[in-house]
Amino acid sequence: MKIKSVKALEILDSRGNPTIKTTVTLEDGSAGSAAVPSGASTGAYEACELRDGDKSRYSGNGVLTAIKNVEEVIAPAIIGHEADEQEKIDSLMISLDGTENKTKLGANAILSVSLAVARAAAVSKGIPLYEYLTKFNPDFSGKYYLPVPMMNVMNGGKHADWATDIQEYMILPVAAKTESDAIRMCAETYAQLKKVLKSKKYGIAVGDEGGFAPAVSSNEEPFELMKEAIENAGYVLGKDIVFGIDAAASEFFKDGVYELKKEGKNVSSDELSAFYHGLVRKYPIYSFEDIFAEDDWSAFQKFTAELDNKGQVVGDDLYVTNVKRLERGIAEKTSNSILIKLNQIGSLTETVSAVNLALRSGMTAVISHRSGETEDTFIADLVVALGTGQIKTGAPCRSERVAKYNRLMEIESELGPKCEYAKFPFIA
Ligand code: PEP
Ligand code: MG
Repeated sequence: MKIKSVKALEILDSRGNPTIKTTVTLEDGSAGSAAVPSGASTGAYEACELRDGDKSRYSGNGVLTAIKNVEEVIAPAIIGHEADEQEKIDSLMISLDGTENKTKLGANAILSVSLAVARAAAVSKGIPLYEYLTKFNPDFSGKYYLPVPMMNVMNGGKHADWATDIQEYMILPVAAKTESDAIRMCAETYAQLKKVLKSKKYGIAVGDEGGFAPAVSSNEEPFELMKEAIENAGYVLGKDIVFGIDAAASEFFKDGVYELKKEGKNVSSDELSAFYHGLVRKYPIYSFEDIFAEDDWSAFQKFTAELDNKGQVVGDDLYVTNVKRLERGIAEKTSNSILIKLNQIGSLTETVSAVNLALRSGMTAVISHRSGETEDTFIADLVVALGTGQIKTGAPCRSERVAKYNRLMEIESELGPKCEYAKFPFIA
């Protein structure tokens, strides 16, 4: 069905910053909308998030230029094209932009159209978005896999005013039997964590992704707090639930050293690596995202070799969902997993290429939200369609996070026996 109109709107994300929402309408009246999220601990190599720079509005963060680009540059070029020709539409937008990092039109402008086109096409075909998106999954066999949720229950770094140097402390309910069980296990643990914090007279305010952010005394303390919460919720740490971290280490890498303010010291890559290995000896941590800075390829490579597939080393700022950086990572065995964020690269087609390259190369792929989110749940449908088996979308708190988990439970209920809960590959 052909595209009839493309309209964009400036809306707010979960931090109250402006972002773009685009609606694509087709000739049969089918319509699809998509809103674009925004990062805080952004990678240096991400595609351009176009902001107006007009200080009289939203401190320069407005997206009216991106909206103008959608309505005046992209719309005339894609109107009349078939909405289900995603690759064609995406490559048309990429060539209209013509820059390496989408600096001319903005990755936010392009992505909003890219995702809205996919939604409109699914609506027109009368099928759910996750079903429509399976056309991008070369391994799809008719069976759907619901992802292990990586829930960030304690926030630090840039997302929580540096409560800890490590940005995210995650729980992974690996022993769940279903998606709704997995989400329940995390929500129960989260509720217990709140009680644990209160009992220790800690604050229970939350960070950008809904995890608690109390004034703990070290980067290690959150593991003890989460351990207590998991046990109080009746689960066995290391069996039912395991840990993951996102250090977002680019954010505390300054002048050639890693500044661990919580530990009161600056450390080298080797010393930081030793710190992580120390944690692994004490706690069942199975996912290590951005544990070094985005250009510290050799430190990643060394840690990945040492971990020896006993867990996943996830590249977020390291790869920025970019096939070129990922190709280097595959060639050099820099990591064995990639974090996937659509707005790091700026189109559905390029995102899917990164996922498929990673999976084909034996890596895992975690589909991810951003710290600045909206109520858009596209990533929930995408992770089910691509069957990567892992999603990272914050704590079971704050509606922009919970919306994704609720969508996953809805999809699970719709699919019934056609789906199963994914197995986390690093646990026997
Ligand atoms: C992350 O670093 O994985 C993350 C979700 O944060 P942000 O969106 O701020 O990059
Ligand atoms: Mg990250």
